[in-house]
Amino acid sequence: MPVMFINDQPVDTGEHRTVLQVALANGFYVPHFCWHPELSIVGNCRVCVVEQEGRGVGIACNMPVAEGLRIQTESEPVRAQRKAMLQFILLNHPVDCGICDKAGECTLQDYHYAYNGAPALSHEPKLHSTKFFPLSERIILDNERCILCSRCVRFTREISKSNVLGMEQRGDGMRVRPVEDRTLDDDPYSDNVIDLCPVGALLSRSFQYQARVWYLEPTASVCPGCARGCTVQLWHRRHEWRLKGLDGSHNERILRVTPLENPRVNGAWICNKGRDLGALFGRPRAGQALLKGRPVLLAEAIDAARRLVRGAGRRVALVSSWGSNEELRAFRNALADRFTSFVKADHRPGEGEVVEDDLLIRADKNPNTHAAQALFGNAPADIPDDTELVLVWGEGADFSTLPRGAKIVHLGAWLQPENGYADVFIPISIQTERHGHYTSFEGVVSAFEPCQRRPEGVIDAETLFPLLAAPPGSDT
Ligand code: SF4
Ligand code: SF4
Repeated sequence: MPVMFINDQPVDTGEHRTVLQVALANGFYVPHFCWHPELSIVGNCRVCVVEQEGRGVGIACNMPVAEGLRIQTESEPVRAQRKAMLQFILLNHPVDCGICDKAGECTLQDYHYAYNGAPALSHEPKLHSTKFFPLSERIILDNERCILCSRCVRFTREISKSNVLGMEQRGDGMRVRPVEDRTLDDDPYSDNVIDLCPVGALLSRSFQYQARVWYLEPTASVCPGCARGCTVQLWHRRHEWRLKGLDGSHNERILRVTPLENPRVNGAWICNKGRDLGALFGRPRAGQALLKGRPVLLAEAIDAARRLVRGAGRRVALVSSWGSNEELRAFRNALADRFTSFVKADHRPGEGEVVEDDLLIRADKNPNTHAAQALFGNAPADIPDDTELVLVWGEGADFSTLPRGAKIVHLGAWLQPENGYADVFIPISIQTERHGHYTSFEGVVSAFEPCQRRPEGVIDAETLFPLLAAPPGSDT
Protein backbone atom coordinates (compact mmCIF):
# COMPACT_ATOMS: atom_id res chain seq x y z
CA MET A 1 0.00 0.00 0.00
CA PRO A 2 1.35 3.49 -0.81
CA VAL A 3 2.42 5.58 2.16
CA MET A 4 1.79 9.32 2.15
CA PHE A 5 2.28 12.05 4.76
CA ILE A 6 -0.47 14.13 6.36
CA ASN A 7 0.70 16.97 8.59
CA ASP A 8 4.14 15.32 8.48
CA GLN A 9 2.84 11.98 9.82
CA PRO A 10 3.17 8.88 7.61
CA VAL A 11 -0.19 7.23 6.85
CA ASP A 12 -1.08 4.09 4.98
CA THR A 13 -3.50 4.91 2.14
CA GLY A 14 -5.09 1.45 2.33
CA GLU A 15 -7.81 0.91 -0.25
CA HIS A 16 -8.63 4.60 -0.42
CA ARG A 17 -8.18 6.52 -3.63
CA THR A 18 -8.45 10.17 -2.56
CA VAL A 19 -6.66 12.33 -0.02
CA LEU A 20 -9.96 13.19 1.70
CA GLN A 21 -10.76 9.52 2.30
CA VAL A 22 -7.27 8.80 3.63
CA ALA A 23 -7.34 11.86 5.89
CA LEU A 24 -10.76 11.01 7.40
CA ALA A 25 -9.83 7.34 7.82
CA ASN A 26 -6.69 8.33 9.74
CA GLY A 27 -8.27 10.88 12.06
CA PHE A 28 -7.35 14.09 10.21
CA TYR A 29 -10.61 15.99 9.88
CA VAL A 30 -11.02 17.87 6.62
CA PRO A 31 -14.28 19.86 6.35
CA HIS A 32 -16.60 19.07 3.44
CA PHE A 33 -20.13 19.90 2.32
CA CYS A 34 -20.66 18.32 -1.10
CA TRP A 35 -18.57 15.17 -0.65
CA HIS A 36 -20.39 12.11 0.71
CA PRO A 37 -18.95 8.59 0.81
CA GLU A 38 -21.96 7.12 -1.01
CA LEU A 39 -22.20 9.78 -3.75
CA SER A 40 -20.10 10.72 -6.77
CA ILE A 41 -17.45 13.43 -6.42
CA VAL A 42 -18.37 16.85 -7.79
CA GLY A 43 -15.96 19.15 -5.93
CA ASN A 44 -18.24 22.18 -5.97
CA CYS A 45 -18.19 23.39 -2.35
CA ARG A 46 -14.37 23.88 -2.32
CA VAL A 47 -14.03 23.79 1.49
CA CYS A 48 -12.09 20.49 1.61
CA VAL A 49 -8.97 22.31 0.46
CA VAL A 50 -5.59 20.99 1.59
CA GLU A 51 -2.05 22.02 0.67
CA GLN A 52 0.11 19.70 -1.38
CA GLU A 53 3.79 20.33 -0.79
CA GLY A 54 5.28 22.08 -3.80
CA ARG A 55 1.98 22.39 -5.66
CA GLY A 56 -0.21 24.68 -3.55
CA VAL A 57 -3.81 24.36 -2.43
CA GLY A 58 -6.36 21.99 -3.99
CA ILE A 59 -9.53 20.08 -3.08
CA ALA A 60 -8.90 16.85 -1.17
CA CYS A 61 -12.07 15.07 -2.33
CA ASN A 62 -10.73 14.81 -5.87
CA MET A 63 -6.97 14.62 -5.16
CA PRO A 64 -5.63 11.12 -5.92
CA VAL A 65 -3.31 9.47 -3.42
CA ALA A 66 0.27 8.74 -4.43
CA GLU A 67 3.38 7.27 -2.83
CA GLY A 68 5.22 9.93 -0.84
CA LEU A 69 2.55 12.63 -1.29
CA ARG A 70 2.93 15.31 1.42
CA ILE A 71 -0.26 17.07 2.55
CA GLN A 72 -0.99 19.81 5.09
CA THR A 73 -4.59 20.14 6.26
CA GLU A 74 -4.27 23.20 8.53
CA SER A 75 -1.60 25.41 6.93
CA GLU A 76 -2.05 29.19 6.60
CA PRO A 77 -2.96 29.06 2.87
CA VAL A 78 -5.50 26.29 3.60
CA ARG A 79 -7.17 28.21 6.44
CA ALA A 80 -7.26 31.40 4.36
CA GLN A 81 -8.93 29.67 1.43
CA ARG A 82 -11.43 27.85 3.61
CA LYS A 83 -12.34 31.13 5.26
CA ALA A 84 -12.78 32.81 1.87
CA MET A 85 -15.06 29.94 0.72
CA LEU A 86 -17.19 30.24 3.85
CA GLN A 87 -17.48 34.00 3.33
CA PHE A 88 -18.61 33.27 -0.23
CA ILE A 89 -21.10 30.55 0.77
CA LEU A 90 -22.60 32.84 3.42
CA LEU A 91 -22.84 35.83 1.05
CA ASN A 92 -26.56 35.36 0.39
CA HIS A 93 -27.34 32.90 3.17
CA PRO A 94 -30.10 34.27 5.47
CA VAL A 95 -28.40 33.03 8.70
CA ASP A 96 -31.88 32.49 10.16
CA CYS A 97 -30.58 29.78 12.50
CA GLY A 98 -33.00 30.82 15.24
CA ILE A 99 -35.96 29.43 13.27
CA CYS A 100 -34.13 26.68 11.39
CA ASP A 101 -34.79 23.02 12.20
CA LYS A 102 -31.18 22.17 11.28
CA ALA A 103 -29.76 24.42 14.01
CA GLY A 104 -27.69 22.22 16.30
CA GLU A 105 -26.92 19.76 13.50
CA CYS A 106 -25.91 22.22 10.77
CA THR A 107 -22.50 21.75 9.19
CA LEU A 108 -22.48 25.35 8.01
CA GLN A 109 -22.93 26.59 11.60
CA ASP A 110 -20.09 24.32 12.78
CA TYR A 111 -17.71 25.30 9.98
CA HIS A 112 -18.47 29.00 10.40
CA TYR A 113 -17.35 28.83 14.02
CA ALA A 114 -14.39 26.55 13.30
CA TYR A 115 -12.98 28.12 10.15
CA ASN A 116 -14.51 31.59 9.64
CA GLY A 117 -15.99 33.35 12.64
CA ALA A 118 -15.85 36.75 10.94
CA PRO A 119 -18.78 39.01 10.04
CA ALA A 120 -19.70 39.30 6.36
CA LEU A 121 -17.38 41.52 4.33
CA SER A 122 -20.10 42.49 1.85
CA HIS A 123 -22.22 45.61 2.42
CA GLU A 124 -24.61 44.70 -0.43
CA PRO A 125 -28.10 43.53 0.55
CA LYS A 126 -28.52 39.76 0.40
CA LEU A 127 -30.34 38.30 -2.58
CA HIS A 128 -33.64 36.66 -1.70
CA SER A 129 -34.99 33.42 -3.08
CA THR A 130 -37.91 31.05 -2.51
CA LYS A 131 -38.38 30.43 1.21
CA PHE A 132 -40.98 27.65 1.38
CA PHE A 133 -40.94 25.81 -1.93
CA PRO A 134 -43.16 22.69 -1.67
CA LEU A 135 -40.89 20.01 -3.05
CA SER A 136 -43.35 17.24 -2.13
CA GLU A 137 -46.08 16.35 0.35
CA ARG A 138 -43.24 15.51 2.76
CA ILE A 139 -40.49 18.05 2.07
CA ILE A 140 -40.18 21.84 1.94
CA LEU A 141 -37.20 23.52 0.24
CA ASP A 142 -35.75 26.80 1.50
CA ASN A 143 -33.68 28.04 -1.43
CA GLU A 144 -32.16 30.88 0.59
CA ARG A 145 -30.42 28.38 2.87
CA CYS A 146 -29.31 26.09 0.03
CA ILE A 147 -25.54 26.13 -0.58
CA LEU A 148 -25.86 24.29 -3.93
CA CYS A 149 -23.81 21.31 -2.84
CA SER A 150 -25.99 19.08 -5.10
CA ARG A 151 -26.05 16.17 -2.65
CA CYS A 152 -29.86 15.98 -2.96
CA VAL A 153 -29.69 15.99 -6.76
CA ARG A 154 -27.04 13.28 -6.84
CA PHE A 155 -29.02 11.16 -4.36
CA THR A 156 -32.04 11.03 -6.67
CA ARG A 157 -29.81 10.24 -9.64
CA GLU A 158 -27.38 7.75 -8.12
CA ILE A 159 -29.11 6.08 -5.16
CA SER A 160 -32.91 6.24 -5.41
CA LYS A 161 -32.68 6.66 -9.21
CA SER A 162 -35.92 8.63 -9.34
CA ASN A 163 -34.02 11.41 -11.18
CA VAL A 164 -36.51 13.92 -9.82
CA LEU A 165 -34.22 16.77 -8.79
CA GLY A 166 -32.02 19.07 -10.85
CA MET A 167 -30.51 22.56 -10.80
CA GLU A 168 -31.93 25.39 -12.88
CA GLN A 169 -30.32 28.69 -13.92
CA ARG A 170 -26.74 29.70 -13.12
CA GLY A 171 -24.77 31.93 -10.73
CA ASP A 172 -26.65 33.45 -7.80
CA GLY A 173 -29.98 32.58 -9.46
CA MET A 174 -29.19 28.86 -9.37
CA ARG A 175 -31.85 26.79 -7.61
CA VAL A 176 -32.71 23.18 -6.85
CA ARG A 177 -36.00 22.25 -8.52
CA PRO A 178 -37.89 19.10 -9.51
CA VAL A 179 -37.34 18.32 -13.17
CA GLU A 180 -40.30 18.93 -15.47
CA ASP A 181 -43.34 16.71 -14.99
CA ARG A 182 -41.81 14.93 -12.02
CA THR A 183 -42.45 15.17 -8.30
CA LEU A 184 -40.44 14.03 -5.32
CA ASP A 185 -43.65 12.37 -4.08
CA ASP A 186 -42.82 9.56 -6.52
CA ASP A 187 -39.56 8.78 -4.72
CA PRO A 188 -40.08 6.32 -1.80
CA TYR A 189 -36.62 7.27 -0.47
CA SER A 190 -37.05 11.03 -0.75
CA ASP A 191 -36.58 11.87 2.95
CA ASN A 192 -32.94 10.80 2.85
CA VAL A 193 -32.20 14.15 1.20
CA ILE A 194 -33.23 15.85 4.46
CA ASP A 195 -30.38 14.10 6.29
CA LEU A 196 -27.98 14.56 3.39
CA CYS A 197 -28.53 18.31 3.18
CA PRO A 198 -25.66 19.87 5.15
CA VAL A 199 -27.78 22.94 5.95
CA GLY A 200 -31.44 23.56 6.74
CA ALA A 201 -32.59 23.87 3.13
CA LEU A 202 -34.55 20.61 3.00
CA LEU A 203 -37.10 20.35 5.78
CA SER A 204 -39.40 17.56 6.86
CA ARG A 205 -42.98 18.80 6.98
CA SER A 206 -43.83 16.40 9.80
CA PHE A 207 -40.88 17.52 11.95
CA GLN A 208 -40.91 21.23 11.08
CA TYR A 209 -40.96 23.41 14.23
CA GLN A 210 -41.70 20.37 16.44
CA ALA A 211 -38.59 20.53 18.64
CA ARG A 212 -35.06 21.87 18.81
CA VAL A 213 -32.79 18.91 18.22
CA TRP A 214 -30.80 19.45 21.41
CA TYR A 215 -33.93 18.62 23.43
CA LEU A 216 -34.08 15.21 21.74
CA GLU A 217 -32.14 11.97 21.96
CA PRO A 218 -32.13 8.89 19.74
CA THR A 219 -32.87 5.30 20.70
CA ALA A 220 -31.46 2.56 18.49
CA SER A 221 -34.18 0.45 16.94
CA VAL A 222 -35.18 -1.64 13.94
CA CYS A 223 -37.80 -0.66 11.40
CA PRO A 224 -40.54 -3.31 11.39
CA GLY A 225 -41.92 -2.00 8.07
CA CYS A 226 -40.55 -4.87 6.00
CA ALA A 227 -38.28 -7.91 6.15
CA ARG A 228 -35.16 -5.76 5.47
CA GLY A 229 -35.18 -4.65 9.12
CA CYS A 230 -33.33 -1.37 8.58
CA THR A 231 -31.56 -0.08 11.67
CA VAL A 232 -32.96 3.28 12.70
CA GLN A 233 -32.84 5.91 15.42
CA LEU A 234 -36.11 6.89 17.09
CA TRP A 235 -35.87 10.49 18.31
CA HIS A 236 -37.83 11.56 21.40
CA ARG A 237 -37.51 14.17 24.15
CA ARG A 238 -34.62 13.84 26.54
CA HIS A 239 -35.75 12.89 30.03
CA GLU A 240 -34.30 16.10 31.53
CA TRP A 241 -36.15 18.22 28.95
CA ARG A 242 -39.59 16.73 29.47
CA LEU A 243 -42.39 19.26 29.25
CA LYS A 244 -44.47 20.01 32.31
CA GLY A 245 -48.09 21.11 32.15
CA LEU A 246 -48.72 19.93 28.60
CA ASP A 247 -50.26 16.72 27.38
CA GLY A 248 -47.85 14.10 28.79
CA SER A 249 -47.98 12.08 25.58
CA HIS A 250 -45.88 14.82 23.94
CA ASN A 251 -42.94 13.70 26.05
CA GLU A 252 -43.33 10.12 24.85
CA ARG A 253 -43.88 10.79 21.16
CA ILE A 254 -41.42 9.70 18.52
CA LEU A 255 -40.76 13.00 16.78
CA ARG A 256 -38.58 11.82 13.93
CA VAL A 257 -36.85 8.72 12.60
CA THR A 258 -33.42 8.69 10.95
CA PRO A 259 -31.24 5.87 9.61
CA LEU A 260 -28.67 4.26 11.88
CA GLU A 261 -25.95 3.49 9.36
CA ASN A 262 -25.47 -0.25 9.02
CA PRO A 263 -23.41 -1.60 6.12
CA ARG A 264 -24.80 -5.12 6.64
CA VAL A 265 -28.45 -4.11 6.32
CA ASN A 266 -29.38 -0.69 4.97
CA GLY A 267 -26.17 1.25 4.45
CA ALA A 268 -26.86 4.93 5.13
CA TRP A 269 -30.50 4.96 3.96
CA ILE A 270 -34.05 4.05 4.91
CA CYS A 271 -37.28 4.40 2.95
CA ASN A 272 -40.05 6.89 3.75
CA LYS A 273 -42.14 4.21 5.46
CA GLY A 274 -39.40 3.91 8.04
CA ARG A 275 -39.57 7.68 8.59
CA ASP A 276 -43.24 7.32 9.49
CA LEU A 277 -42.75 4.88 12.38
CA GLY A 278 -43.86 7.60 14.81
CA ALA A 279 -47.38 7.34 13.37
CA LEU A 280 -47.27 3.54 13.34
CA PHE A 281 -46.21 3.31 16.99
CA GLY A 282 -48.49 6.22 17.90
CA ARG A 283 -51.72 4.37 17.03
CA PRO A 284 -54.28 4.07 19.86
CA ARG A 285 -53.12 1.34 22.23
CA ALA A 286 -55.14 -1.40 23.84
CA GLY A 287 -54.57 -1.31 27.59
CA GLN A 288 -57.54 -3.25 28.91
CA ALA A 289 -57.85 -7.02 29.25
CA LEU A 290 -61.26 -8.30 28.09
CA LEU A 291 -63.43 -11.41 28.40
CA LYS A 292 -65.86 -11.33 25.46
CA GLY A 293 -65.61 -7.54 25.47
CA ARG A 294 -66.06 -7.24 29.25
CA PRO A 295 -63.19 -5.39 31.00
CA VAL A 296 -61.39 -7.57 33.55
CA LEU A 297 -58.12 -7.50 35.45
CA LEU A 298 -55.11 -8.76 33.53
CA ALA A 299 -54.66 -11.66 35.97
CA GLU A 300 -58.28 -12.74 35.40
CA ALA A 301 -57.81 -12.73 31.64
CA ILE A 302 -54.58 -14.73 31.91
CA ASP A 303 -56.30 -17.30 34.10
CA ALA A 304 -59.23 -17.59 31.66
CA ALA A 305 -56.75 -18.13 28.82
CA ARG A 306 -54.96 -20.82 30.85
CA ARG A 307 -58.25 -22.65 31.33
CA LEU A 308 -58.88 -22.60 27.58
CA VAL A 309 -55.35 -23.79 26.80
CA ARG A 310 -55.77 -26.67 29.28
CA GLY A 311 -59.33 -27.62 28.40
CA ALA A 312 -59.48 -27.39 24.63
CA GLY A 313 -59.04 -30.34 22.29
CA ARG A 314 -57.54 -29.30 18.96
CA ARG A 315 -55.55 -26.06 19.35
CA VAL A 316 -54.09 -23.84 16.66
CA ALA A 317 -51.81 -20.82 17.12
CA LEU A 318 -51.34 -18.03 14.56
CA VAL A 319 -47.85 -16.81 15.41
CA SER A 320 -46.93 -13.14 14.93
CA SER A 321 -44.24 -12.25 12.40
CA TRP A 322 -43.75 -9.08 14.51
CA GLY A 323 -42.75 -11.07 17.59
CA SER A 324 -39.10 -10.64 18.57
CA ASN A 325 -36.63 -13.52 18.53
CA GLU A 326 -36.94 -13.66 22.32
CA GLU A 327 -40.75 -13.79 22.25
CA LEU A 328 -40.79 -16.44 19.52
CA ARG A 329 -38.45 -18.62 21.56
CA ALA A 330 -40.54 -18.07 24.69
CA PHE A 331 -43.65 -19.21 22.80
CA ARG A 332 -41.87 -22.27 21.45
CA ASN A 333 -40.48 -23.23 24.86
CA ALA A 334 -43.72 -22.71 26.80
CA LEU A 335 -46.57 -23.52 24.44
CA ALA A 336 -45.51 -24.91 21.07
CA ASP A 337 -46.13 -28.56 22.12
CA ARG A 338 -49.77 -27.71 22.85
CA PHE A 339 -50.55 -25.99 19.54
CA THR A 340 -50.29 -26.58 15.84
CA SER A 341 -48.55 -23.34 14.94
CA PHE A 342 -48.63 -21.32 11.72
CA VAL A 343 -46.73 -18.09 11.05
CA LYS A 344 -49.03 -15.35 9.79
CA ALA A 345 -48.31 -12.02 8.09
CA ASP A 346 -49.35 -9.34 10.57
CA HIS A 347 -49.02 -6.65 7.87
CA ARG A 348 -49.46 -6.69 4.09
CA PRO A 349 -48.62 -3.99 1.53
CA GLY A 350 -50.88 -0.95 1.97
CA GLU A 351 -52.69 0.87 -0.81
CA GLY A 352 -50.22 2.76 -3.01
CA GLU A 353 -47.21 1.40 -1.11
CA VAL A 354 -44.14 0.32 -3.08
CA VAL A 355 -44.28 -3.46 -2.73
CA GLU A 356 -40.66 -4.25 -3.58
CA ASP A 357 -37.64 -2.72 -5.30
CA ASP A 358 -33.97 -3.46 -5.78
CA LEU A 359 -32.66 -0.97 -3.19
CA LEU A 360 -34.16 -1.81 0.25
CA ILE A 361 -37.92 -2.35 0.21
CA ARG A 362 -39.09 -5.96 0.59
CA ALA A 363 -42.48 -7.42 -0.31
CA ASP A 364 -42.84 -9.06 3.11
CA LYS A 365 -44.06 -6.20 5.33
CA ASN A 366 -43.12 -7.92 8.58
CA PRO A 367 -39.79 -7.70 10.41
CA ASN A 368 -39.35 -11.22 11.73
CA THR A 369 -40.85 -13.74 9.34
CA HIS A 370 -37.39 -15.29 8.91
CA ALA A 371 -36.99 -16.15 12.60
CA ALA A 372 -40.66 -17.16 13.02
CA GLN A 373 -40.56 -19.54 10.06
CA ALA A 374 -37.25 -21.01 11.25
CA LEU A 375 -39.09 -22.12 14.43
CA PHE A 376 -42.60 -22.83 13.14
CA GLY A 377 -42.26 -23.56 9.41
CA ASN A 378 -43.65 -21.73 6.42
CA ALA A 379 -46.81 -23.73 5.72
CA PRO A 380 -49.91 -21.60 5.04
CA ALA A 381 -52.42 -21.61 7.90
CA ASP A 382 -54.71 -24.62 7.75
CA ILE A 383 -57.26 -24.54 10.59
CA PRO A 384 -59.52 -27.61 10.71
CA ASP A 385 -63.24 -27.01 11.35
CA ASP A 386 -63.12 -29.02 14.58
CA THR A 387 -60.49 -26.72 16.11
CA GLU A 388 -61.56 -25.82 19.64
CA LEU A 389 -59.10 -23.04 20.42
CA VAL A 390 -57.30 -20.51 18.22
CA LEU A 391 -54.58 -18.35 19.77
CA VAL A 392 -54.18 -15.23 17.64
CA TRP A 393 -50.94 -13.40 18.38
CA GLY A 394 -50.68 -9.94 16.85
CA GLU A 395 -52.42 -8.31 13.90
CA GLY A 396 -53.47 -9.49 10.46
CA ALA A 397 -55.76 -12.44 11.25
CA ASP A 398 -59.18 -12.49 9.59
CA PHE A 399 -61.44 -13.51 12.49
CA SER A 400 -64.35 -14.19 10.13
CA THR A 401 -62.46 -17.15 8.66
CA LEU A 402 -61.82 -18.87 12.00
CA PRO A 403 -63.92 -22.00 12.79
CA ARG A 404 -67.30 -20.95 14.21
CA GLY A 405 -67.17 -23.11 17.28
CA ALA A 406 -63.57 -22.29 18.24
CA LYS A 407 -62.74 -20.21 21.28
CA ILE A 408 -60.37 -17.35 20.57
CA VAL A 409 -57.53 -16.02 22.74
CA HIS A 410 -56.21 -12.83 21.18
CA LEU A 411 -52.93 -11.17 22.17
CA GLY A 412 -52.85 -7.67 20.71
CA ALA A 413 -51.39 -4.23 21.21
CA TRP A 414 -53.82 -1.93 19.39
CA LEU A 415 -57.41 -0.82 19.84
CA GLN A 416 -59.27 -2.93 17.29
CA PRO A 417 -62.87 -4.22 17.02
CA GLU A 418 -61.63 -7.84 17.13
CA ASN A 419 -60.41 -7.34 20.68
CA GLY A 420 -63.98 -7.38 21.97
CA TYR A 421 -64.93 -10.34 19.80
CA ALA A 422 -62.30 -12.65 21.24
CA ASP A 423 -63.20 -14.87 24.21
CA VAL A 424 -60.07 -13.61 25.95
CA PHE A 425 -58.18 -10.50 24.94
CA ILE A 426 -54.78 -9.80 26.57
CA PRO A 427 -53.00 -6.50 25.81
CA ILE A 428 -49.30 -6.93 25.03
CA SER A 429 -46.40 -4.49 24.70
CA ILE A 430 -44.98 -3.09 21.48
CA GLN A 431 -41.42 -2.88 20.22
CA THR A 432 -40.76 0.60 21.61
CA GLU A 433 -41.54 -0.60 25.15
CA ARG A 434 -39.03 -3.46 25.42
CA HIS A 435 -35.64 -4.83 24.40
CA GLY A 436 -35.45 -7.42 21.66
CA HIS A 437 -34.05 -8.59 18.34
CA TYR A 438 -35.40 -9.22 14.84
CA THR A 439 -33.77 -11.38 12.17
CA SER A 440 -33.87 -9.92 8.68
CA PHE A 441 -34.72 -11.91 5.54
CA GLU A 442 -30.95 -12.25 5.03
CA GLY A 443 -30.46 -13.66 8.53
CA VAL A 444 -28.93 -10.52 10.06
CA VAL A 445 -29.92 -10.11 13.73
CA SER A 446 -30.51 -6.49 14.85
CA ALA A 447 -31.35 -5.20 18.31
CA PHE A 448 -33.99 -2.70 19.39
CA GLU A 449 -34.18 -0.80 22.69
CA PRO A 450 -37.14 0.65 24.60
CA CYS A 451 -37.88 4.37 24.46
CA GLN A 452 -41.48 4.46 25.72
CA ARG A 453 -43.10 3.34 28.96
CA ARG A 454 -45.22 0.19 28.84
CA PRO A 455 -48.79 1.26 29.72
CA GLU A 456 -50.49 0.03 32.89
CA GLY A 457 -52.26 -3.30 32.38
CA VAL A 458 -50.08 -4.37 29.44
CA ILE A 459 -47.74 -7.38 29.55
CA ASP A 460 -44.73 -8.45 27.48
CA ALA A 461 -45.51 -11.51 25.36
CA GLU A 462 -42.20 -13.04 26.49
CA THR A 463 -43.43 -12.91 30.11
CA LEU A 464 -46.94 -13.98 29.20
CA PHE A 465 -46.23 -17.27 27.42
CA PRO A 466 -44.81 -19.14 30.46
CA LEU A 467 -47.77 -17.82 32.49
CA LEU A 468 -50.23 -19.26 29.97
CA ALA A 469 -48.51 -22.63 30.19
CA ALA A 470 -48.96 -22.77 33.99
CA PRO A 471 -52.01 -24.49 35.59
CA PRO A 472 -55.13 -22.32 36.15
CA GLY A 473 -55.01 -20.56 39.50
CA SER A 474 -51.20 -20.22 39.51
CA ASP A 475 -49.65 -16.90 40.42
CA THR A 476 -49.35 -14.33 37.63
S1 SF4 B 1 -30.92 21.64 -0.89
FE1 SF4 B 1 -29.31 21.01 0.56
S2 SF4 B 1 -28.53 19.08 -0.32
FE2 SF4 B 1 -29.63 20.13 -1.96
S3 SF4 B 1 -28.11 21.34 -3.02
FE3 SF4 B 1 -29.01 22.69 -1.50
S4 SF4 B 1 -27.67 22.50 0.30
FE4 SF4 B 1 -27.21 20.78 -1.04
S1 SF4 C 1 -36.91 -0.68 3.62
FE1 SF4 C 1 -38.29 -1.79 4.98
S2 SF4 C 1 -37.21 -1.95 6.94
FE2 SF4 C 1 -36.15 -0.37 5.70
S3 SF4 C 1 -37.07 1.58 6.34
FE3 SF4 C 1 -38.23 0.85 4.57
S4 SF4 C 1 -39.95 -0.33 5.43
FE4 SF4 C 1 -38.42 -0.06 7.05
